[in-house]
Amino acid sequence: MTSATVSLTLYSPFDGVVIPLDKVPDSVFAERMMGDGLAIHPLSDTLLAPCDGVVTALHAAGHAVTLRCDVGVDILLHIGIETIALNGEGFTAQVQEGQRVTVGTPLIAFALDRVALAARSLATPILVVDGSSPMIVMRAEGRVRAGERLMTIEVGSPVGASDQDDPCDALYSRTIAIPMRHGIHARPAARISAALKPFSARVTLHNGARAADARSSVALLALGARRGEMVRIDAEGPDAQAALDALCDLIDSGMGEADPPGSAPVDMELPEMLGPPDADVRAGALRGVRASPGIAIGIAHRLEPDDRPIQHKSGSTAEERAVLAEAVSNTRDHIAALAGEGSDIQRTIMAAHLGILEDPVLLEGAQCLIQAGFSAGYAWHRALMDQVAVLTAVDDARTRERAADLMDLDRQVRRAIDGEPRGERTLPDNTILITDDLLPSQLIELPLARVAGFCTAKGGPTSHVAILAAGMGLPSLVAMGPAPLDIANGTPLILDADGGWLEVDPLQSRVAEVSDVIAARHRQRAAAQRDAEIPCRTADGRRIEIFANLGSVADAEHAARQGAEGAGLVRTEFLFLDRQSAPDEKEQHAVYQAIANALPGRPIIARLLDIGGDKPVPYFATAREDNPMLGVRGIRLALQHPDLLECQLRAMTAVLPAGQLRIMIPMVSMVDEIRQVRALLERVVDAVGMEQAPQLGIMVETPAAAATAGLLAVEADFLSIGTNDLTQYVLAIDRGNAGLADRVDPLHPAVLRMIQLTCEGAAEHGRPVGICGGVAGDPDALPLLIGLGVTELSMVPTMIPEAKARARGLYQAAARDLAEAALRCSDAREVRALARAFEGGVRR
Ligand code: PEP
Ligand code: MG
Repeated sequence: MTSATVSLTLYSPFDGVVIPLDKVPDSVFAERMMGDGLAIHPLSDTLLAPCDGVVTALHAAGHAVTLRCDVGVDILLHIGIETIALNGEGFTAQVQEGQRVTVGTPLIAFALDRVALAARSLATPILVVDGSSPMIVMRAEGRVRAGERLMTIEVGSPVGASDQDDPCDALYSRTIAIPMRHGIHARPAARISAALKPFSARVTLHNGARAADARSSVALLALGARRGEMVRIDAEGPDAQAALDALCDLIDSGMGEADPPGSAPVDMELPEMLGPPDADVRAGALRGVRASPGIAIGIAHRLEPDDRPIQHKSGSTAEERAVLAEAVSNTRDHIAALAGEGSDIQRTIMAAHLGILEDPVLLEGAQCLIQAGFSAGYAWHRALMDQVAVLTAVDDARTRERAADLMDLDRQVRRAIDGEPRGERTLPDNTILITDDLLPSQLIELPLARVAGFCTAKGGPTSHVAILAAGMGLPSLVAMGPAPLDIANGTPLILDADGGWLEVDPLQSRVAEVSDVIAARHRQRAAAQRDAEIPCRTADGRRIEIFANLGSVADAEHAARQGAEGAGLVRTEFLFLDRQSAPDEKEQHAVYQAIANALPGRPIIARLLDIGGDKPVPYFATAREDNPMLGVRGIRLALQHPDLLECQLRAMTAVLPAGQLRIMIPMVSMVDEIRQVRALLERVVDAVGMEQAPQLGIMVETPAAAATAGLLAVEADFLSIGTNDLTQYVLAIDRGNAGLADRVDPLHPAVLRMIQLTCEGAAEHGRPVGICGGVAGDPDALPLLIGLGVTELSMVPTMIPEAKARARGLYQAAARDLAEAALRCSDAREVRALARAFEGGVRR
């Protein structure tokens, strides 16, 4: 395919640093809605003509100009982002519309410092705004001087036939639904960018008109992709196909955030509630949005914003690079330490922050600005604020709230640059903190023993700081507007986060009333916690073990505090995911031992590696399967890698005291699989000279396993039903399919029949049956499952006290009657209605 082409060279309109268009913090430019080209971060203060031509448009606000080049192409030069809001202040046009110019003619003079401080970004797009799709065949990179070659454009050329024919640069594309409950938020974004590390392909995600470089978790956040939305993934480059497959598999998997069946979180109803303030009180009370529940009485204390001045001027580029690298590295170490010592929630949030610190868009953005002569502090701040601007423009509250994480890292890294020591603040007792906004790191640094709660003018209920506060049990209200900022330090307050009120300077009688409610709650919680430690038996004396599902050592510690009587499922995959190679025996053993130590004297059921299917591991080469959920996953995959399996068995058998750790095989569908694992286990046991092999049990996750439970129970020491997978296989509904989520209910009578078959088969050989799928923690399900014959329930740790209380009030005969009735129901909805109406056997 040939046609006549004309080349046009554009010369840089000022000194500056070239920025790829997709890094410009404005989707109109980043997504090339106006045209293709590049952007420059200016370092000189006059915009010069990049080519010969005629000024066809000069914007009234003086910040943008369009030239018609002599070859007939239109070029737009737009100084900064959202500079239209300056209404011409700081800009002085040097030309008029219709004027002919040659390369280097001054077009617009501008006050660089003034515009820099007021603009959202100084990035200046230089675009070919021509409908005939001219092709840009050269783009400068890095630092450029005014008048240097910037871009070469071929006009009239067909769209690069040779490029399209090159198989190396073929574009692979797929459209996929987002199954994650909260869409692509910080954690999935970090995992997507991490999953692409082994590949060199350029991968872009498109959500409607928005596009994002998939290696940048910040850019991914700005996509605002929500659950159920269709996202197009484009991959280009030599390993594009493999990168695309890996990414689709990862997203398809739901990353542990697709709603598993029956796992809807249950809010524990607290009977002792504070009544709403009456009209008089309400008149002086301030409204807020609950970020974390609870009620507190305390005194106001303002936390002033951490506005630290920024030094623009810098040392040499090398010095500023070193300063930034050291500050980022210090911050990373600090966050990694917080991740190690905190709760599971804190660990997850800190992991997301560590991912942001590695974000290529931020790091490159800051490097470009340092290169351009700015200080490390300014470069870091500006790079982050550009992305904050992108996130806050997204029409999704959750994504906007992620901007707080960037602001947090801005603050932390700049604090490290300033060499400011980290230390706890001093606060009065019973402080109710009043602040414009609170960042996760600020909350973690507070002397929590003195803090009764907090209120923020800004923020949102799904921010990371809200999640952290909920994990700490700290009542808090957010999005209150500026009103609380006027409250004087030391003013008495009642913070009713449950009701969404902040009562300012309440009457003594009201304080007394609220104090009584708080005291009653404490008594109730203390009783629940006390009872949570007591072994669980039904009202008529049947022992029911209430275990915890674990995915980390921190989970095990948390589970112990919730009264877990053991671990019914340790998902050992957590050790294998999000890394470049498998953990060795020593590392595995250390973690399994730490989990056992956290739950001393209690059984730990550790599942053998369950990857493949919905849980791909990047370093584990698996052939592409059309139907991975029905493919080489779970034990099928492990048996194909006996070295890996043996390594894990060795690490598990070495856990002391012997017998505490039990081993569980995932995804069993035939007897032979148990026999093969047992043979390998016995070899390991012989080799280390153990007297007795640990118990070896199986997960019942396939209809085949449920239907042949009697045969499997001959070989297995215990059975544990994985209702998440069992439900998807019984109902033939993908557990991650958001569109069918309301139909994939484990209380469907067909699934209940499988549970019944499993219990009957196991009972023939005296084997215990547990449940470790999400339904184990479902209050509707508990009496039913016990009625079907299950004697162990393993769940999310926080659900344990409630589950124990519920089981304690249960009579078995009534539970059996309920189960029988449920088996005769026609669908899950009917079963749930029956379960909710079930009063007979349960003392409420
Ligand atoms: C299950 O399938 O029910 C189960 C507990 O395993 P996972 O959710 O890890 O697949
Ligand atoms: Mg499973």
